[in-house]
Amino acid sequence: MRKLRKERRKKGRLHINSPLMGESLVSKSFLRHTEAPEYFRMHPDINVLKIGGQSIIDRGREAVFPILDVLVQAKERHKIILMAGGGTRTRHIFSIGVDLGMPTGVLSKLADKVSWQNAEMLSVLLAKHGGVKIGHGDNLEQLTMFCQLGYIPITYGIPPYGYFEHPAEYGSIPPHRTDCGAFLLAENIGARSLIYLKDERGLYEDDPKKYTKGERKSLKYFSRISADQLLAMDLDDLIVERDVLVFLKRSKTMKELQIVDALNHPEHILAALDGEHVGTIIYRD
Ligand code: ADP
Ligand code: MG
Repeated sequence: MRKLRKERRKKGRLHINSPLMGESLVSKSFLRHTEAPEYFRMHPDINVLKIGGQSIIDRGREAVFPILDVLVQAKERHKIILMAGGGTRTRHIFSIGVDLGMPTGVLSKLADKVSWQNAEMLSVLLAKHGGVKIGHGDNLEQLTMFCQLGYIPITYGIPPYGYFEHPAEYGSIPPHRTDCGAFLLAENIGARSLIYLKDERGLYEDDPKKYTKGERKSLKYFSRISADQLLAMDLDDLIVERDVLVFLKRSKTMKELQIVDALNHPEHILAALDGEHVGTIIYRD
């Protein structure tokens, strides 16, 4: 401190030496040196569960209620945050927005309201079990506390890019929707696990819904695959948003994610939380 004061007196201005001083923060060789030896995990016991909008919530009570029963059970053994997908209403507002020539950032703003509605419904349904709707602000630092107190925090999946959403590689639909939001939150809080609750057993070489029951049998299924491999395969369609794979490839804390068939096997949610391999695991090399 005394040395600092002296420095200030001598030069009339305080200089704080920093290893990043004068750097553009663009140089690839320089940026490699900013890798932390170990990344801090804010919520290492929290499991991030994304409930599909189209794949689950839009199917109504038949799909949702059995899943909520499992979640209420799961909360006794595990700390969980639920993130809501958007689903069919998001697709509807996108189609109107696209027709009107809306830019990607506007479409992202429209989509977050739908995902928010689904989070609202989930928190109403889970209210008596401690369901509590939270936003994307300071509450996210309190996740462990919420869970320790017996709550189930619930938020919307769309990441808060809004007008700052990245341009899409193809077309105009925001590339970072609720699958990406769930990944980004899990990564930045250093979550214990990331589980996507969907309506298929996991990842196939193509969308199984485009095939008849008989044809599906010959579709290749992946029970475990790396993000690198999957990106290199460049499949036309995927069960998670493509940028989730890009994020996983670069992730610092998340090593893998699992996609489970929560529609036909709600019990798989608890199994996945217990560390079992019941769906498709995508991992970082
Ligand atoms: P969510 O509502 O959970 O975001 P989506 O409907 O957006 O779910 O995505 C899940 C759907 O992706 C599955 O129901 C499946 O029909 C489809 N899908 C597309 N490509 C694949 C694939 N390669 N493997 C498995 N499912 C796929
Ligand atoms: Mg989706």
